[in-house]
Amino acid sequence: MSTESDCLFCKIASGVIPADVVLESDNAIAFRDIDPKAPTHALVIPRTHYADVDELTASDPILTGELLTLAAAVAKLECLDHGYRIVTNTGEDAGQSVAHVHFHVLGGRSLSWPPG
Ligand code: AMP
Repeated sequence: MSTESDCLFCKIASGVIPADVVLESDNAIAFRDIDPKAPTHALVIPRTHYADVDELTASDPILTGELLTLAAAVAKLECLDHGYRIVTNTGEDAGQSVAHVHFHVLGGRSLSWPPG
């Protein structure tokens, strides 16, 4: 597993920094966002460090699929039967603030589209 010593989400994945874990697997972990934008707002991350979705998809398409599968499992566990949104911000224009790829899982209320 590749980690970066100064990466917040690597520290969460390794348990050095605590998080409210929703689901986990050998290769990925889902935990609640510290600043939720919806009643359910979880982040799904790989345990291995990839800065963004470009690095992730170029390096490990199988892991990419595992992350989406875990995101869908979070939605099921949270009973988001009326719908949910999976978002990944990539780079400055998208507002990516943590350089460890993550998928937001949002639901539990009506979500506007397009986002602001
Ligand atoms: P993004 O802006 O797409 O990079 O998303 C980063 C997300 O990480 C934001 O929604 C933050 O609220 C969330 N976040 C930052 N620090 C933590 C933390 N320690 N635990 C849980 N979520 C966090």
